[in-house]
Amino acid sequence: AVEIKDLHKSFGELEVLKGIDFTVDQGQVVCVIGPSGSGKSTLLRCVNLLEQPTKGTVRVGGVELTDPDVDIDAARRRLGMVFQSFNLFPHMTALQNVMIAQRRVLKRGSGEAERVARANLEKVGVADKCDVYPAQLSGGQQQRVAIARALAMDPDLMLFDEPTSALDPELVGDVLSVMRDLARDGMTMLVVTHEMGFAREVADRVVFMDGGVIVEEGPADQVIGDPRHARTRTFLSRVL
Ligand code: ATP
Ligand code: MG
Repeated sequence: AVEIKDLHKSFGELEVLKGIDFTVDQGQVVCVIGPSGSGKSTLLRCVNLLEQPTKGTVRVGGVELTDPDVDIDAARRRLGMVFQSFNLFPHMTALQNVMIAQRRVLKRGSGEAERVARANLEKVGVADKCDVYPAQLSGGQQQRVAIARALAMDPDLMLFDEPTSALDPELVGDVLSVMRDLARDGMTMLVVTHEMGFAREVADRVVFMDGGVIVEEGPADQVIGDPRHARTRTFLSRVL
């Protein structure tokens, strides 16, 4: 479903991505791990075109997002993104937060948008919080509303950038469990995470990045349990 080829990204003189190649097949979960500054967020931002790659191609569902003639807004609609910070609108209830992009971007009527919003809030376990404002929700609940908001757009692919790293430890599990359910339902997911237990359990493949390149990738058990490269071993010894 996702195909990334020879992806490069520079900020001025600084080359952050130095030729990244990998694919995420339909229904697969790929976790990206690696040290701070290795380019993980930049990679996700290039996949959804929040950053323009310097070179290389990104294809999602057969559509080349990096094609200059492509309708970027239409292409981006196929992707759901969940960030470390939840970015909910503070002056809107949970329900309104999940409805707004459906109304504005997909032009759904309010009845349909509300039905889809309620179904997705239920799916992530916060159906009882529809009428509550973000400030009254825990971090874990806010992040689940953010996931519901992305799901409400019927994405082909979900991108997650360290969705649990801003959460208190006791709230991490709820969010990971929602993500685990999504994976089981067959959602295609590209997940940057420091949660090695989650990666090992849920990911079909793990990609280890360092210094803007993929150092190694493979089945989760192999990359996390029996890494081939010294750099991967050093990284894992710090995070495990
Ligand atoms: P972390 O684990 O800390 O989130 P990361 O692997 O996500 O790190 P990136 O955020 O992709 O790393 O950053 C990679 C490098 O690119 C860093 O050196 C960062 O300073 C640089 N960088 C990222 N965005 C920009 C930007 N908009 N302008 C200039 N440099 C940037
Ligand atoms: Mg990052």
